Amino acid sequence: MKIFIAGKMPDIPKLRFIIGIIVILFCFNILVWIAVFQVSQPRLLKVVFFDIGQGDAIFIETPRKTQILIDGGPSGKVVEKLGQELPFSDRSIDLIIATHPDKDHISGLVEVLKSYQVGLVGTTGIKGLSGEFNEFTTEIENNGSTEVILKKGQKIIIGQLAIEVFAPLESFEGREVNDTNVSSLVLKAVYGNNSFLLTGDAPQSVEKKLVQEDISSQVLKVGHHGSASSSSDSFLQKVNPEFAVIQVGQNNSYGHPAEEVLERLEKYGIMVMRTDQLGDISFLADGQRLLKD
Ligand SMILES: [Zn+2]
Repeated sequence: MKIFIAGKMPDIPKLRFIIGIIVILFCFNILVWIAVFQVSQPRLLKVVFFDIGQGDAIFIETPRKTQILIDGGPSGKVVEKLGQELPFSDRSIDLIIATHPDKDHISGLVEVLKSYQVGLVGTTGIKGLSGEFNEFTTEIENNGSTEVILKKGQKIIIGQLAIEVFAPLESFEGREVNDTNVSSLVLKAVYGNNSFLLTGDAPQSVEKKLVQEDISSQVLKVGHHGSASSSSDSFLQKVNPEFAVIQVGQNNSYGHPAEEVLERLEKYGIMVMRTDQLGDISFLADGQRLLKD
């Protein structure tokens, strides 16, 4: 049977034009839906306290995938941990920060500098006395990273995330000191109403000065792996955290965390989370609520 179509058929160039318009509109429609989907996604900040044994290593990833590592722990284990967080193709970290030059904080950073392209390296500018510190300095150069000396009162702004520098209280730039813990960077990561206080190994003498500042935070990375030399009563009262994370190795020779610090944390009703007991400890923050990952 023959089929007849009444009316005048559009000529071919006109038909192509109409199809072209339809295709453009269709693509535009898809782009709009992708944008709507992205806006409706919760914009989450991820903070992971790695279980890397006796030492600190804290990974932060912003919703736009800016990656930050604060301290690297005592060994290359941190590279393994980063491999779990980053896609295989991602071989770069935007910012690493060394709170102070002790082995249990910078040895892992040396391995990170060997394995990843690192944009910025935040330090106090202190001169370390150890072989590890020399290696750290060499690897910053080899990596081609830019070293930034962080000072009290500065803020690192990455989108909605602000990392405020509260200590060291004085400049350690170019200095060699025996008590490196005093030189520790103390940082507060603020994301909307969520906040994390990262204290390195800062001792009570530093805490005493910090209680005059706005250090209140939802999560406290307990100073010096739970040593009795940190976490004074007045400091814990001022920070007033919901969670206290202790980055500590199993059966460590220092006896960290100290029983008296655990008792103090309990006294103030702070939930204690230890990497030696729980492994990696992750939080997701949406600027309002804090979710345990
Ligand atoms: Zn330490």
